[in-house]
Amino acid sequence: MTPQAPGRHYLDVWGVAKSFRGTRVMSGMNFRMDRGELVSLLGPSGCGKTTLLRIIAGLMEADEGDVVLGGRNITRLPAHRRNISVVFQNYALFPHLSVAENVAFGLRARGTAKAACAQPVEEALSLVRMDAFAGRPVSALSGGQQQRVAVARALVVQPDLLLLDEPFSALDRKLRETMQVELKALLRDRGITAIFVTHDQEEAMGVSDRIAVMNAGKIEQFADPSTLYARPATPFVMDFVGLSTRLSGRVVQDDGARSIVETGCGLLTAPGGFAPGTPVQIGVRPELISPGEGENTISARLRDVMVLGAKTVLHGEAAGSDRVMCELPGIRGGMTRGDELRLGWSVADTLIHEAAA
Ligand code: ATP
Repeated sequence: MTPQAPGRHYLDVWGVAKSFRGTRVMSGMNFRMDRGELVSLLGPSGCGKTTLLRIIAGLMEADEGDVVLGGRNITRLPAHRRNISVVFQNYALFPHLSVAENVAFGLRARGTAKAACAQPVEEALSLVRMDAFAGRPVSALSGGQQQRVAVARALVVQPDLLLLDEPFSALDRKLRETMQVELKALLRDRGITAIFVTHDQEEAMGVSDRIAVMNAGKIEQFADPSTLYARPATPFVMDFVGLSTRLSGRVVQDDGARSIVETGCGLLTAPGGFAPGTPVQIGVRPELISPGEGENTISARLRDVMVLGAKTVLHGEAAGSDRVMCELPGIRGGMTRGDELRLGWSVADTLIHEAAA
């Protein structure tokens, strides 16, 4: 992709390339977001999320490209002059300092006099509901409390941009969910522009206005959570964001509006726009498949019934050994492994992508 000139976005990263010891891990990277947005960089390990974050923060130099923040080209500015705060995965707090001293550290590093730190530190700590802990050593705090202190330290300097690199990964699931809700509310209330790095798709869906799904140093799709889920642009996004049944096939007929696809389970109909002969992958989200006949119907042998409480998930195997998933609300009984099922869904709910060569 040809890099475009910086536009009027609050953050404008364009044409960024990066190699490590001769191996290119990112090239022609363009990434833009607006003021006040919460954006996640989502992708599997090694796809370049942290590299992009570090380049934006100024902790790593890009080989090519520019970073423009608030209309100012900051590409050549060192990290400490960018007014960007980073919350790291391990919080990077100083264990020998108190909570308040840790929070004051960023201000002190920017030359704020000790006496002038007290009020902003108190405010930042009360934002994350840690004001009662100001005098405690950081080493005496729980993981969730340390995470709050790291956020207070990042916010106390009133950054133009907040970057969070897997901020919740050290927390257990319940605490992680609580922190996600809290942090999202805090950032929204304060109108803070932030980028989350995560490889957890549920976290990205839950906290972000938009998600950039990355794969092998490229953004595959950049959209709001519902678009990513309902209209994944590529098979990679379909697989990475949410679960789906996948069936391989070949287009046998297409009138522009609808494609007829030959699969191991018979002919299926999908939204059109493919040349006859094109190898494709059909996808359907599990909650959009239901037992019985539909515009598309397949037979599958039931491999497993998982009763999860709020939902029951049926795992099946269709002809051609394609795996099929069907999710039903609530607790459902009366089905056993080995049953032959008819499963149906609508054409509109059928996702179709050209299969990777
Ligand atoms: P993770 O989720 O595991 O943190 P990531 O998406 O953040 O992964 P990066 O850390 O950005 O991925 O790494 C992108 C690629 O660049 C990987 O192939 C990685 O091995 C490589 N890489 C990153 N930093 C360095 C480095 N300092 N030296 C050599 N290779 C590096």
